[in-house]
Amino acid sequence: MNEYKELKKILENAQSLVVFTGAGISVGSGIPDFRSAEGLYNQETNSSYSPEEMVSHSFYENHTEEFFEFYKNKMCYPNAQPNLAHKYIANLEKKGVNVTVITQNIDGLHSKAGSSRVYELHGNVHVNYCENCSRMFGLEYVLNSKGVPTCDKCGSIVKPDVVLYEENLNEDIISRSISAIMNCDVLLIIGTSLSVYPAAGFIRYFRGKYLIIINKGSTSYSNTADLCFDEDIVEVVKKIL
Ligand code: ZN
Repeated sequence: MNEYKELKKILENAQSLVVFTGAGISVGSGIPDFRSAEGLYNQETNSSYSPEEMVSHSFYENHTEEFFEFYKNKMCYPNAQPNLAHKYIANLEKKGVNVTVITQNIDGLHSKAGSSRVYELHGNVHVNYCENCSRMFGLEYVLNSKGVPTCDKCGSIVKPDVVLYEENLNEDIISRSISAIMNCDVLLIIGTSLSVYPAAGFIRYFRGKYLIIINKGSTSYSNTADLCFDEDIVEVVKKIL
């Protein structure tokens, strides 16, 4: 059996499947990843600050206007649609596989594709709230506001529910994610080099049967994985469909 058939068989027969995804899964939806040559961190900006500085909590506090200019232009992709990979994962769930998605992405595309249990470690651009009265707003509200988005009720700043550098991840989401990884028999890692906190630490909790990695470029776990595909996930999905 070739490795693509084996992959399909393992995924479709999983008792409990955890899919852990990073930026690589959304490249096929037109969202650049952070660290590749064309990625967010290597893009030209009009600012003297680096993109990494601009997505930090202190930058948000001290340069709020500039933060939102960068955020709206470079971090939000309101027209992005789920690609074959997001849809394939959602379809596994429809076929009866018990699927938990844990993602580092903030694009909301797993939910949009139809996955029902999605833990978004870094939040989601579609959720925004007033810092003062907690009123909730959608992405369009933020994108359509001029400059810094403010609450239509109390006038305070509307903050995206996205985890910035220097901010803590949500404890509840972390513990649910770890618990899912500890209790799954198949762990599928897609589109992340596993070099960034907390991804690498999470994988250590896995004690199931199959660890599978699909990532263009090698990862710190490529040698220990049961199956490893050094290619774009959309290409892999095309081969197993
Ligand atoms: Zn408010």
